[in-house]
Amino acid sequence: MTVYGSLHSAFGPQHWWPATGSEEMIIGALLTQNTNWKNVEKALSNLRRNDLLSFHYIIKTPLSQLEKMIKPAGYFRQKSLRLKTLAETIIATGGLDSLDLLTTLELREWFLRQSGIGPETADSILLYAFKRPVFVIDAYTLRICRRHNWLNDKDNYRKAQEFFTRKLPLKVDIFNEFHALLVQIGKNFCRTKKPLCQECPLEPFL
Ligand code: SF4
Repeated sequence: MTVYGSLHSAFGPQHWWPATGSEEMIIGALLTQNTNWKNVEKALSNLRRNDLLSFHYIIKTPLSQLEKMIKPAGYFRQKSLRLKTLAETIIATGGLDSLDLLTTLELREWFLRQSGIGPETADSILLYAFKRPVFVIDAYTLRICRRHNWLNDKDNYRKAQEFFTRKLPLKVDIFNEFHALLVQIGKNFCRTKKPLCQECPLEPFL
């Protein structure tokens, strides 16, 4: 059985990204930096309650009000400013439909030029909001790959992304699911210290 097959059998479909639309997905991707998803959910829930899961409404909302709602996600001043700036820039560019006309490479470069968006956030947005076949790499994925000798310690984000892109069919649904499944492994088994290999679905691949 393949790594993907083993993970899928162990955990089942992950239904990522947990958002009702592209704008909510992008907002969540910005808020999830340096915090856990539970905290993001609290901030999203505050925004939802105030009808603010929309770029059009975010740009009309005073920063101080956004900060109050985003507070549970941490770094709330920085995140509120980045979110408001991103919402303004996206709308000034013609909205998500307009951005969707860009090639995947152009779209990635566009997001990487925005404040506070690095490769992992940009690729998450490309995959989960724009449905582009871009594999997302995170700290869990790097750790798992290194422990299995699929990558060496010096291999960086780009090398890891090339590895998965080379090995997998270029399909959005597989990239979507595989990343989410690797996050499950990272959270539940492949801890920084004392990985739980004996109980892990990837143990046969060591
Ligand atoms: S088998 Fe061990 S090293 Fe491999 S992913 Fe699982 S916990 Fe990590």
